[in-house]
Amino acid sequence: MPKPGKTGGHALLALLLSTSSFACTALPGPHPLPESTVWLGPAPRTENGRFVNPVGELLGGGNRVRIPFLWGRIKTTLRPRPGAPGTTDSATSYFRRSLQDVATQGVYSQGAPTVTWIGHATLLVEMDGVRFLTDPIWSKRASPLSWLGPARRVEPGISFDDLPQIDFVLISHNHFDHLDLPTLERIAERNPKATFYVPLGNAELLFERGITRVVELDWTQQATVQGVEIHCLPAQHWSKRGLTDTYATLWSSWAVIGKDRRFFFAGDTGYFAGFKEIGDALGPFDLAAVPIGAYEPTAMMHLSHMNPEEAVMAAVDVGARTAVAVHFGTFDLADEPLDEPPARFIEAATGSGSTPLEAWVLSIGEIRPF
Ligand SMILES: [Zn+2]
Repeated sequence: MPKPGKTGGHALLALLLSTSSFACTALPGPHPLPESTVWLGPAPRTENGRFVNPVGELLGGGNRVRIPFLWGRIKTTLRPRPGAPGTTDSATSYFRRSLQDVATQGVYSQGAPTVTWIGHATLLVEMDGVRFLTDPIWSKRASPLSWLGPARRVEPGISFDDLPQIDFVLISHNHFDHLDLPTLERIAERNPKATFYVPLGNAELLFERGITRVVELDWTQQATVQGVEIHCLPAQHWSKRGLTDTYATLWSSWAVIGKDRRFFFAGDTGYFAGFKEIGDALGPFDLAAVPIGAYEPTAMMHLSHMNPEEAVMAAVDVGARTAVAVHFGTFDLADEPLDEPPARFIEAATGSGSTPLEAWVLSIGEIRPF
């Protein structure tokens, strides 16, 4: 049974004082970005040991943007916006395919390279003889509290009990919609040999929950699992879970490189020059998972999240043959309409220019060979 964790007064205070911390949404003030920054190297740190993006602190939006945004978030937490997908089936084709379809697809034992969208940034990937999850969250809320915070609007694409055995888990950063401790505990319990890969500074959180097989990596460090390379790579983002830990732990993207397939997981990130560097160093990729949601209001979001057009650019930059969209349609985290990101993503990829990109918007629960 999952431990209750720190869900008392501390968590509530954190939630009330900084609603931006429960689901990676907001950052303060604007910032010019130098063009000549090099991303591919160890993550820079400030004098006080906090991590920082190579372009400096990510700032976006003053109180005139933040306060209405946060008020809107509180309202949608209490009552779903019109058009938000339901908590079970949805008439909207983007959001759901029946679990029956998933159960009968039965491809996991065949060893073919496949990707399944569980919802939000959670993917189940099978390639080169390994099976792994990205930013797994099966919880009903992306929040430190079980009773308050952004609610899951669509059930996970595969129920937790139907998950096949997992070899490893990739975690991009500590925001609650990406690092969900109750889910990680369940995975560790069911998969005692699974290793959890996290960017620097995040292992402690897992150790505290009794998860011991944790590997912390810095940007450009790598590990090997069953002959498959795992690369920790830059992302343009930030971190925060409590009141005083902004930028205290690192954020990252990940590449998984086997003999047969090359996969890139962008994590949670703004569009940044590092994608090109990653593509030059490790591309091309057969499949890149790119976040396409949580981009409005632009003044607050654009340095830490990509819009659908930027997600297409990112996939092209890393040299992806195919891009699969994530980070939308599951939790209502930002101001754009919930069905806008996938439509814009497909549209942008259609016009992606001289480098043809195949863009996938999976239904939640859909599995596809790649
Ligand atoms: Zn985030």
